[in-house]
Parts: sequence; structure tokens; C-alpha cells
Amino acid sequence: MKKHDTPMLDQLQDGPWPSFISGIKRLRDEHPEQRINEMTNDLLGQLQHSYETRKGYWKGGTLSVYGYGGGIIPRFSEVGDKFPKSREFHTLRIQPPAGNFYSTDILRRFADDWEKYGSGLVTFHGQTGNIMFIGADSESTQGFFDEVNEYGWDLGGAGPCVRTGMSCVGSARCEQSCCNEHKIHRLLMNNFTDDVHRPALPYKFKFKVSGCPNDCVNSIERADFAVIGTWRDDMKVEQEEVKAAVAKKGRKYIIDNVITRCPTKALSLNDDDTLDVDNRNCVRCMHCLNVMPKALSPGDDKGITLLVGGKRTLKIGDLFGTVVVPFMKLDTEEDYEGLVELAENMIDFFAENALEHERTGEMIERIGLVNFLEGVGIEVDPNMLDHPRTCSYVRMDSWDEEAEKWFARKQAAG
Ligand code: SF4
Repeated sequence: MKKHDTPMLDQLQDGPWPSFISGIKRLRDEHPEQRINEMTNDLLGQLQHSYETRKGYWKGGTLSVYGYGGGIIPRFSEVGDKFPKSREFHTLRIQPPAGNFYSTDILRRFADDWEKYGSGLVTFHGQTGNIMFIGADSESTQGFFDEVNEYGWDLGGAGPCVRTGMSCVGSARCEQSCCNEHKIHRLLMNNFTDDVHRPALPYKFKFKVSGCPNDCVNSIERADFAVIGTWRDDMKVEQEEVKAAVAKKGRKYIIDNVITRCPTKALSLNDDDTLDVDNRNCVRCMHCLNVMPKALSPGDDKGITLLVGGKRTLKIGDLFGTVVVPFMKLDTEEDYEGLVELAENMIDFFAENALEHERTGEMIERIGLVNFLEGVGIEVDPNMLDHPRTCSYVRMDSWDEEAEKWFARKQAAG
């Protein structure tokens, strides 16, 4: 095998960071299988050619496995004559487990199977949340899918459909967790499996679940339906731990790094080194809890906040999710069913009302939040905020009837 010269790619190996070029070269130079050496050699050749000519040469197409309408990203090379071994270089998206928990056995099995059918290149995980198995020809795609499907794995979403869900590592390893992230993730994804595999929506729809407002899976920025764990009573303060932290770091350090960094000035350090929290003003930014995890922790009355419409730039600029359910308890099976039902209503509404290639957030901007809320059957609430502390997204000042209903509900709830 004659190796392609790759002077421009070689430069990407300079510097302190790991380089994807080094990874591909390892497969080219060290992998025992000649098929993989040749495939990755031609892949590097095409990439170098792209850099030289400043053009991309991959084109899409239609490719799937039996019974599915999505989940494969087809890539056919336009310069396949020059680089025949990587002429077809498709990506398979495989859904990760909730919280991304894998056993080493499974990881080995994936790696072995992928080397049998594909190029050996894998990404854990792409921004979509999927495991990306990159580089199989059309024929091997079905073979690899059959193999992994046999031991319980499924394709993720691609195209205008419900996309692969993501959830953070959650209560298994994180003390800030306020909900059962993995159960929520599993229930939502299992309920919408058909909508993942058969693209039939105006555009993509993403579920992401974070266990606390640290939002480790970026749900507020990326998800059409973001579930974020939170609490509504007072945060828990271990005063002895606060004193220990002050003794260790000094008052100045705690004041400079915790007290003054609270965005709503809800914290004060007393003369005896105990801490007072003005819980009504805490906006759950998580800063103090992150800095002093032994001393501070979420309260006991835990639940979730639901936001819709987060997305990156598309027709309009980046949008954060808007709070549509400020607090929801998830204690009983009925509570979970209620959440899934709400998701169903939202997807139905989205399917019927969004324009082609329009995300939920853009649809809401176009038709107005109030119409969206009416359409999915959620009563308006002044706590539905777009920007915390700056403006209420649902203004009710000229909307007497809704305001009266809301006050009546509040009174009834005590
Ligand atoms: Fe302040 Fe944020 Fe701590 Fe709440 S979580 S008290 S807003 S620093």
C-alpha cells in the first residue's frame, strides 16, 4: 500500500492537544487488518485533497437498514476514483444508554464488531448524543447494525424526527441530582421510538434531561424539550461544614468566591462563620453549591422544571429554552405518565403547526408563546420566564381574566 502524502494534515498533529489525525494514522499504520489500513489511508488522502483544494467532497444520499427510515448518515465520495477504498464512508448513529453508562465488555464488543465491518473510527459521543461509528460501506452497514441490534442496541435519530435523547450521569454519581434522570430519559425515548426511526416531523425534536440546574447536557441550549431537576424548598446548609470551609480557606476566600458571586446577593456570611441563605431570592444558579458541596446541597422537595424551544442558530439566532412548567413533582407513576403525555402533546402540536425546517423555539417565536401553551394545554403562569429576573415572558398586566384565574389557583393551593 502506498501511503498518501499528507503535509497539511501533519500540521494538525503539532501542539499539545490530541489530534484526530494521529488517531486515523494509527489505524492506517498499526492496525493488523489490511482493509482498515487501506480505508484510512484513502480517507487521509481525500482529506488532504480537500485541504489543498478547499472543497469538501462528501455527498449525502439515501441509505438505511431494513425497517428504518433514519439513523445512518450516508457519505459517498465525489473523488472515489482517486481514493477508492474510502469511496463509501457512512456513519451509523447508535443510541447511548441513559447517563452514558457502559460496561467494558460492551465497549470491547462494539470495538471488535466495528473493526469487523467498518473503519475502526468511533466517536463517544457526537454532539447529537449518539455513539458515532464512522466509516462503513453500504453493504457492511446492515451487517453491523444487525450485530449490535442483536445484543440490544438501536439506531439513533437523523433527519426531521425525534432525535436521540441525552441525560447526565445523574444520581448514580452526582450529589446534586434532583430527579431520576435515567428513568425520564428511558420513558421518553421508549415512548417515541417510532418517531426516532421514521422521520415524519417538520424538523428535529430533541429531548435532554439534566438532574440539576448545572445542566451538564446543555439541555437549556440544545433541547426542544429540556427537563432540569430542581428543588422548591430551602437549600440544605451544614453550618459545621461552612465553618470548616472558612477555617480551611479563610473568610476572604469564601466572601470573594462564594458570597459576592451569588447573582442575586442571596448569601451572607455571619461573624461566627455561619452562612445565611435568602432562599426566596436564590435563582438556583448552583454556584455556591458547586463551590461548597459538603456544606450546601439541594433541598428535599425535589422535582423538575420543563423548558421548551432551546436551539442553536438556524432561521433565527440561538435560543435558550423558555420555562413552561416552573415546577413539577415526579413521585408517582402517574406523574411520569403526565410528563410523557405533555411531550406527546408538544410533538403533535409541533408536527401540525411548525413550518418545514423550523425548530420548536422558532415556531413559538412565530406564533407566540400563549398560542403554544393553549395548543398543548398548559395554563399560563407568570413564573414562565424567558430571562430570569429581567422580564416575565408571559405578561398578564393587560390580561385580567388570566391573572384572576392564576391568583385564584394560587389561593386555592394555599
Ligand atoms: Fe445564589 Fe446561586 Fe447559591 Fe442560589 S445557587 S444562593 S443564586 S449562588
